[in-house]
Amino acid sequence: MSYDPDNIFTKIIAGDIPSHKVYEDDVCISIMDIMPEAPGHVLVVPKAGSRNLLDADPEALAAVIQRVQKIGNAVKKAMNADGILLRQSSEESAGQTVYHLHFHLIPCHENVKRKEHVSGTTANEELAANCEKIK
Ligand code: AMP
Repeated sequence: MSYDPDNIFTKIIAGDIPSHKVYEDDVCISIMDIMPEAPGHVLVVPKAGSRNLLDADPEALAAVIQRVQKIGNAVKKAMNADGILLRQSSEESAGQTVYHLHFHLIPCHENVKRKEHVSGTTANEELAANCEKIK
C-alpha cells in the first residue's frame, strides 16, 4: 500500500489534466469535484504526495488543514450553506477511490439530501459557475 505518483491528482496539479480550480498556493490546490455530492463540493489536494492520511507527512498535514479551514469558509459563504461536511477516506474499505491524499468539503443545507459518493457527473457549466462563486 505505497503511494503511486501516477494518479489523476498529480496530473491535475501538474496542469496535464484540466480542472475547475478554486484555489492554489505552494501547499495545495483546491478543485471542484466532478461528481459533486452537493453543489459546491470541492476537494483540497496537497501538493506533497501521499497515498492518504495515514502516510502523510505531519508537517504537510498541519499546513494543509489551515487551507481546508479557509476554503471551507469560502465554500460555506459562496453556497449559502448551513454547514460543511469535511471527509477524508483512507483506503478502499473507507470509500477511497483516488490514491492521492485529498479532503472533501461538501456544503450542507438543512433537510437537503446529498447525492451518493461518485454517483454521477455534473455539467461543466454548473461546475464553472460554482467555482467562480467560491473563488
Ligand atoms: P475519494 O473517493 O474519497 O478518493 O474521492 C475521490 C473524488 O475525486 C471523488 O469524489 C471523485 O468524484 C473525484 N474525482 C475523480 N476524478 C476527478 C477529476 N478529474 N476532477 C475532479 N474530481 C475528480
